[in-house]
Amino acid sequence: MKEPMTLYMVVPCYNEEAVLPETAKQLGGKIASLIRDGKISRKSRITFVNDGSTDGTWELISQLCAGKGARLFCGIDLAHNAGHQAAVLAGLMTVRDRCDAAITMDADLQDDVEAIESMVDACLAGNEVVYGVRSSRKTDSWFKRQTAEGFYKFMKLMGTEVVFNHADFRLMSRRVLEELSHFPESNLFLRGMIPLIGFRSTKVYYERRERFAGESKYPLRKMLHFAAEGITSFSVKPLKIITNLGFLMVLVSVGMVLWAFFTKLTGHSEQGWSSTVCSIWFIGGIQTLCLGIIGEYIGKIYAEVKHRPRYIVAEFLHGEEEK
Ligand code: UDP
Ligand code: MG
Repeated sequence: MKEPMTLYMVVPCYNEEAVLPETAKQLGGKIASLIRDGKISRKSRITFVNDGSTDGTWELISQLCAGKGARLFCGIDLAHNAGHQAAVLAGLMTVRDRCDAAITMDADLQDDVEAIESMVDACLAGNEVVYGVRSSRKTDSWFKRQTAEGFYKFMKLMGTEVVFNHADFRLMSRRVLEELSHFPESNLFLRGMIPLIGFRSTKVYYERRERFAGESKYPLRKMLHFAAEGITSFSVKPLKIITNLGFLMVLVSVGMVLWAFFTKLTGHSEQGWSSTVCSIWFIGGIQTLCLGIIGEYIGKIYAEVKHRPRYIVAEFLHGEEEK
């Protein structure tokens, strides 16, 4: 019989001592039951990545890795606080040679532990990426809901492709992790990078809960920064907007010239008005246009320095060699 796949959970933790024991209990229970059901192998584990916590998070992780049931857990201690995205990537890259698939999940139990099984099923059905998507935002406040949904819409408008209402709860196969390792960029925005990789994917819907304990490590300030990161790491559309604005201003200046002629001919013009207004719009337009053109080149340089793979081969069909 074929050996079941090895699944690794990757859970970033930053000052999560308040929730970690419960997270370990729930995730440990889930993984153990999936092992019992023969869906995943006995080598499967939960990896907690300590992202430079200043509380007792690492002590808790170390205890989990030493205590009873230690074969279910492993821990990675980052030397300093690298941020959520970097912590997730550190976890994924550390375990990628040990697993057939990895699921990333936050430590605060907002993501549904039960959805893990659906993700594993979707993976067994041949999907290389399974996105966890929130089915509703009932538990979010009106403000959080509006800002979060606005975030996805704005991203799309700005040219960054993301899966609507999907954060960082997802399953990735070993093959996807291998491809992810070829993205050497340091401005990380995983939910934009994974769709770039491609391969067969599907979505699993779940209800997002409230944080089990502790406080959010993502205040509005960090969220705005993250949104800006997502746009500027994936899209040069803002630069294109400048170029278009420049064009528009030059067009307006042409309109202004026509308008100035019209008022002159009908005898309504003030002395010196036309030349001043026309030059303001014209010079402004030319300057903005030039900025936009420089921006376009910067956009190209930016794309080059990212050194992203230009393509990813999913399959190579090649018949038998001639004898
Ligand atoms: N996190 C991290 N490093 C940080 C900030 C957060 O590893 O610098 C982790 C945190 O422990 C949690 C996850 O990222 O597991 C998501 O953070 P949080 O739940 O506070 O964000 P929210 O759900 O409020 O957006
Ligand atoms: Mg959270």
